[in-house]
Amino acid sequence: MTDSSQPYWYSKRLDEMTDEEWESLCDGCGRCCLNKVINDETDEMFETMIACKLLDTHTCRCSDYANRHATVPDCIRLTIRELPDLFWLPETCAYRLLHQGYELPEWHPLISGTQDTVYKSGYSVQDKVFSEKDVPDPADWHEYVIRVIEEPED
Ligand code: SF4
Ligand code: SF4
Repeated sequence: MTDSSQPYWYSKRLDEMTDEEWESLCDGCGRCCLNKVINDETDEMFETMIACKLLDTHTCRCSDYANRHATVPDCIRLTIRELPDLFWLPETCAYRLLHQGYELPEWHPLISGTQDTVYKSGYSVQDKVFSEKDVPDPADWHEYVIRVIEEPED
């Protein structure tokens, strides 16, 4: 049963949301569109400040979302089934937060009513990362590592 006194992002389970509601959860931080590198010897995964070639690094939106798989075949389609395996998503990702039972931060656009709060929060990649178009060789990306991605313990 849903609690109609609560907004849908709290009253509905993720698997009860409409496509529109699901899409609205994305805060547009752009952090899931940063390329990762993996250490071949240790299997450690690192986040870099090199963004996918389709990411607009100012608006932090995909420049061709509807057709993105034609250009970026390995772009993840975020679904509730995959969420438990997507440990590399940032801790602030709204999908991850709700899936883990947390509330959305005050700067989330659904709470604040504006995208500006995401930019001001410091959690957005706006104007802070490079496009893969400017650093096209993956062999160079290890020089741009910004975060070690911790894998959950079994
Ligand atoms: S990390 Fe999560 S909230 Fe941020 S852009 Fe990606 S899907 Fe949206
Ligand atoms: S194709 Fe679009 S949504 Fe996918 S990683 Fe690249 S910029 Fe992000």
